Amino acid sequence: MHRHQTLAAFFAMLLAGSCSAADFSGQRALEATRKAVALGQRPPGSAAIARLQAMIRAELKAHGWAVSEDVFTARTPVGQVTMRNIIGKLAGSSGRSVVFSGHYDTKAIPGVNFVGANDGGASTGWLLEMARVLPGFPRKDDVYLVFFDGEEAFGDWSDTNGIYGSRHLAAKWNSDGTLLRIKALFNVDMIGDKDLKIVEELNSSASLRRLVRATANDLGYGKYFPEFGGAIEDDHMPFVRLGVNAMDLIDFDYGPGHAWWHTAQDTMDKLSAHSFQVVGDVMSAVFQRLEK
Ligand SMILES: [Zn+2]
Repeated sequence: MHRHQTLAAFFAMLLAGSCSAADFSGQRALEATRKAVALGQRPPGSAAIARLQAMIRAELKAHGWAVSEDVFTARTPVGQVTMRNIIGKLAGSSGRSVVFSGHYDTKAIPGVNFVGANDGGASTGWLLEMARVLPGFPRKDDVYLVFFDGEEAFGDWSDTNGIYGSRHLAAKWNSDGTLLRIKALFNVDMIGDKDLKIVEELNSSASLRRLVRATANDLGYGKYFPEFGGAIEDDHMPFVRLGVNAMDLIDFDYGPGHAWWHTAQDTMDKLSAHSFQVVGDVMSAVFQRLEK
């Protein structure tokens, strides 16, 4: 009996420790994604993305983040488009920073009812749930949550058509010195897929890939991080090219033969709370390891 009481007390203590901060909720992330997706197509400069920007700002402020915006005019194949990266910041004490990012725009696909549940929606909902839980974690570093605009190309992708927001912010942070203080940057994209398989993204920092894989294995989530390698151009790349320790978490195998990507099939029914939970739990644990 005594032994049981001791064990119970021990587990209660463990539980209290692990629950002192709110834990990431995959269900909440899914619901936040649903709200974004309900706005319809959200390409840069649209009325729908303006409504989403208001939602993002309000959520960040509600959870105590200092909110700023990186607004710029992009030259695109369809003309000049105003874009805005939305940035939440929590101040730390070390002079260094950890960044979580993802894009919130969706690709403009004329004539197609493309709502981007996984592509644009999932990264948005996941970051909004991180906005709720990160303030509760012990930290010494500054933390940034970055919502990139203009990840998607207008028409076909090229070196100058796509990742407009991350290219702009990387250049800005390079010139103002913010870049030098980044300890790690994690970009998420398309992480809501029910059939979650995060690519071993070969442009990403090898040390961060090792950290994320070890953490996923420790949490029993190793099967969602298969050792299938591929190099993917995403919002982490402008930072990688400037020497930032950065990593992309992306599941780039969406539907049979990737058939749901950039189509009207990219809808909420393809997503699961559990997939958001896996990525949320892993990144919460990774963050706490980086802050120790
Ligand atoms: Zn896309």
